[in-house]
Amino acid sequence: MRKVTTIALDIQGRICTGCNNCVVACPVNALELTVVNPVTRKKTYNVLNGKAVVIDEDVCNGCGICLMVCPQRAITLTTE
Ligand code: SF4
Ligand code: SF4
Repeated sequence: MRKVTTIALDIQGRICTGCNNCVVACPVNALELTVVNPVTRKKTYNVLNGKAVVIDEDVCNGCGICLMVCPQRAITLTTE
């Protein structure tokens, strides 16, 4: 089924510690702590030793679980 909402999930780079809680908690594996090139990403992510939490917005269902498990409250989610 086609999605009718646009999900925008942002991770505030300056406060994310890379703890991986959100990655583990996501029920659909939409998040990944992975190697990124911040120059070529369209969003600004926190890069920790070359890694950052990135989201596959095509997979994310907007459940909000990642927001609740983030100890830094670094994640914000909006739907349109
Ligand atoms: S909102 Fe839900 S599905 Fe989307 S990244 Fe967070 S935990 Fe995963
Ligand atoms: S749970 Fe929060 S602090 Fe931990 S990796 Fe995810 S966004 Fe960063």
